[in-house]
Amino acid sequence: MSKTKDFSIPKEVSHVTDKLESAGFEAYLVGGCVRDLLHGKKPKDWDVTTNATPDQILPLFEHAFYENDFGTVGVVNESCEDKTLEVIEVTTYRLEAAYSDSRHPDAVTFSSKLEDDLKRRDFTINAIAYGISQNKIVDPFNGQIDISKEILRAVGNPLERFKEDALRILRAVRFMAELHFEIEEETKKAIEEAAPALANIAKERIRDEFIRILESNNPMNALIKAHELGVLEYITRKLEEGIGIEQNQAHKYDVWEHNLRSLQHAVDKKWNIIIRLAALFHDIGKPRARKWSDEKKDWTFHGHEVIGARMAERILADLKFPKKTIEDVTKLVRWHMFFSDTEKITLSAVRRLLRNVGHENVWHLMDLRACDRIGTGRPKENPYRFRKYKAMIEEVLEDPINVTMLKINGSDLISLLGIEPGPKIGHILHALLEETLEDPSKNTKEFLEKRAQQLNRMDIDELKKLGDQGRIKKEKTEEENIAKIHRKYWVD
Ligand code: ATP
Ligand code: MG
Repeated sequence: MSKTKDFSIPKEVSHVTDKLESAGFEAYLVGGCVRDLLHGKKPKDWDVTTNATPDQILPLFEHAFYENDFGTVGVVNESCEDKTLEVIEVTTYRLEAAYSDSRHPDAVTFSSKLEDDLKRRDFTINAIAYGISQNKIVDPFNGQIDISKEILRAVGNPLERFKEDALRILRAVRFMAELHFEIEEETKKAIEEAAPALANIAKERIRDEFIRILESNNPMNALIKAHELGVLEYITRKLEEGIGIEQNQAHKYDVWEHNLRSLQHAVDKKWNIIIRLAALFHDIGKPRARKWSDEKKDWTFHGHEVIGARMAERILADLKFPKKTIEDVTKLVRWHMFFSDTEKITLSAVRRLLRNVGHENVWHLMDLRACDRIGTGRPKENPYRFRKYKAMIEEVLEDPINVTMLKINGSDLISLLGIEPGPKIGHILHALLEETLEDPSKNTKEFLEKRAQQLNRMDIDELKKLGDQGRIKKEKTEEENIAKIHRKYWVD
């Protein structure tokens, strides 16, 4: 039962178990952190399990709170920089209870035995406890062997365990994605049989596991496995519509595989969840939009981005994603077909796209295009045209160089200098513009007012000359800025 291990445990964590043990209780690390330690990974959080009840735990710590009614106390490490150590969860040993709302167990029955607590856990790899002070592993279900074999095996009778809480099925898929483990045969059969019970699970719980799958390194494989196990349809049925849907000649893969490969590229690039979701769903409308064209002798998918945007919106709303996520992803799916032939389009077309997707999404849209390209099996991610398009976006986003950049304007000058509207105002403003382009620190109301008064006293021809110099400087600066953008993207 016990083995000597050489783990490095943060003092914030051992402090918690020491406190409990000094007060006469048992205290063990348990769950994901023990699994990760044994697997040679850095734990994402630290969970402690104990025979002390919440009433007994709370007085032992200065900053602790009773989180919910399920026996979990959070111990707070305020001055801790490491986010994983901010709150250490301490949970009383407990027995399995029914989850009739598919969210929380109906009632919590505390136990005095560690084994009871391990028995209620989902997979053998998550049902190992580690006593820090005795350096002792408690592993009644041989989770260590399964870790070394990289196998996910349910604790106890798998079918019963999945029927108790069907979310465990999706957790299995998530652990496959995160750890690259395989599912053991009996557990796999039980998943196939119990999968329909996922229909009763709260959407928020499904969403959270779905996000974890997408945030892992290997969602493409995990989603394929989820499909094979009959689990994917409880996240969404719509992705599977793309299976076997052959595309036009530009594509190597069917719609399903193309969506998955696009997602996997977003993951390989470590792009964020918005891009990952958009990549996964970008062509989800294709099966419903597909039509054969006799003229082209090929498939067409007109309007698939409009259909797809609506489908993605429904899927995400069903899964109770935040409104902002839904909006962003939907926009990206809606506009992913943007026309990027830079030989034919103008800056005003780029400006229109920017209005449609919004400034904050436009770079996501470029990343989505990269995913889309890689997902077709075409090797080049960043060809000239694509870089040129990005340069055009930056050009459009570039603030215009003109006198409105100044901290002073024409009507300020009229009242300050007591002069009539006319060309003189323009000369002064452009003369000021030249000086601030030369030295941006001069763009303060105070400096510009003083300088305007000096300029106002100058001879008009002299002043006009300065104004014209300003106009030339403005054009040169604009050209320089655009050249800088072009250099950045290596385009002409
Ligand atoms: P992570 O590394 O992502 O935190 P984890 O295994 O710690 O993974 P958590 O969701 O934090 O996952 O759960 C902590 C532990 O609680 C698990 O390791 C497992 O022992 C147990 N557990 C969590 N959810 C369930 C469940 N639905 N059924 C049974 N046991 C569960
Ligand atoms: Mg955890």
